[in-house]
Amino acid sequence: MFAQFRADTQVCPYIGQSLRMSLYDSLDRYVEESRPRFEEWLGRLVEIPTVSMDPARRNDMWRGAEVAVGCLTSLGAQATIVETGGYPLVVGGWTQDPAWPTVTVYNHLDVQPAMEPEWTREPFKFTVEGEHYHGRGATDDKGPALTALLAARYAAEHGVRLNIQFVWELEEEIGSPHFAEGLAKAMNFRKPDSVVVSDTIWLAGGRPAAPYGLRGNLAARLILETARREAHSGLTGGVARNPLTELAAVLAACVDAKTGRVTIPGFYKSVRPLGKTDRAQFLRSGFQVKTFAAAHQLTKLRVRDRMEVMKRLWAEPTFEVHGFVGGYTGPGVKTSIPPRAEAKVSMRLVPAQDPAAIFRIFRAYVRKLNPDVHVEAHGMLRPYVADLGGPYAGAVLKALRFGFGKEPAFIREGGSIGAVVTMAKRWKAPVMFLGLSLPEHGYHAPNERFDWGQASGGMKAFVAYFDEVSRITGKTQGSRTA
Ligand SMILES: [Zn+2]
Repeated sequence: MFAQFRADTQVCPYIGQSLRMSLYDSLDRYVEESRPRFEEWLGRLVEIPTVSMDPARRNDMWRGAEVAVGCLTSLGAQATIVETGGYPLVVGGWTQDPAWPTVTVYNHLDVQPAMEPEWTREPFKFTVEGEHYHGRGATDDKGPALTALLAARYAAEHGVRLNIQFVWELEEEIGSPHFAEGLAKAMNFRKPDSVVVSDTIWLAGGRPAAPYGLRGNLAARLILETARREAHSGLTGGVARNPLTELAAVLAACVDAKTGRVTIPGFYKSVRPLGKTDRAQFLRSGFQVKTFAAAHQLTKLRVRDRMEVMKRLWAEPTFEVHGFVGGYTGPGVKTSIPPRAEAKVSMRLVPAQDPAAIFRIFRAYVRKLNPDVHVEAHGMLRPYVADLGGPYAGAVLKALRFGFGKEPAFIREGGSIGAVVTMAKRWKAPVMFLGLSLPEHGYHAPNERFDWGQASGGMKAFVAYFDEVSRITGKTQGSRTA
């Protein structure tokens, strides 16, 4: 097919036009024909429980990497496992001509744990139900990874003059601790001109959304110990210090529970007000508060104003308490004073907020509030914002319009992907986002799934993206990390 195609283009004086026509002519058929292969490989990947958070899954992590290599090579790509010091990276793809531009496609193959009681099927048993693909990792991020891969194969075999190299990480869900090391060790890996990440969620089905920024994150544990063992409140109450009460007071001093406003002094110092362009993009996004609340099954919200909700989700920092541990949790009330309490918290950060600096002011503030509380950082990710005005954003726009028949909204993402900042810094290349997941797909939630509609549209979008990007020459557009 490849040779045939080249013969076609040689006789046509308008090579660019002919190339694009030939490229897109057989795409629909390719996508349909790819479906069994897509389902087979997605099934194989989903059924390996690559839970990076769970040390008991160590062997599965390596097995997942091996199967991924098999998947790449079976499609004619080169592929190899790169040791990182932690879980490996899988790198590979089609590097055909050093003179062509190079794009790196990033996905991750590790998944969240799947212990929620709400799972209605085995999380690591892959099931196909009509258009739907069920199983942990189907949408985050194994389905999108395979979608991009099948598109890359098509582009490579149909004369798109682009080197396409994949990097599949297996430590994304634990904050990418060895990602930078892994990239440094990846031999034959070209410095790309741009990066595309497929690991984000649309606002709603039928409405493509392309994020151009991510919030950062800073997680921490606060631990307070006031005794060696549990004490009776009748015998010691009034004198014994209560770590649960004290830790609750510390948390209450960090955030206004009603508004969500963070009350750590200096926390907002580097936060810039939202720009006009961002605001305009947000307003055009089609974001609906009701849909958002329904998708996440939120029954009560802090605010309902549309702009205010978007601003808070994408462009403002937060302070959340995720867990508060200690004391008696059995039935009834046991009147004891616990010896120890722990709070698990995190802060989403926005551009210009440096996680390390925020951690320092947070720790100093907690020490001032209660010098006995031990503060421990548990992972930091910097925020990221891409250039909306450049050709890569234009390519994303065209790609999603082609794949799904609708202009995408450029939004920001409230979450964090640590690898993004690492790649932007390392290669000084713009990182764009071409995500395919829908809110109802259950990212990080029970009953996760993906669907053929997103996969088939995604394959077309990725082919168009590769085509567009292959024709971007000259200086790469800037991107900012903060
Ligand atoms: Zn993900």
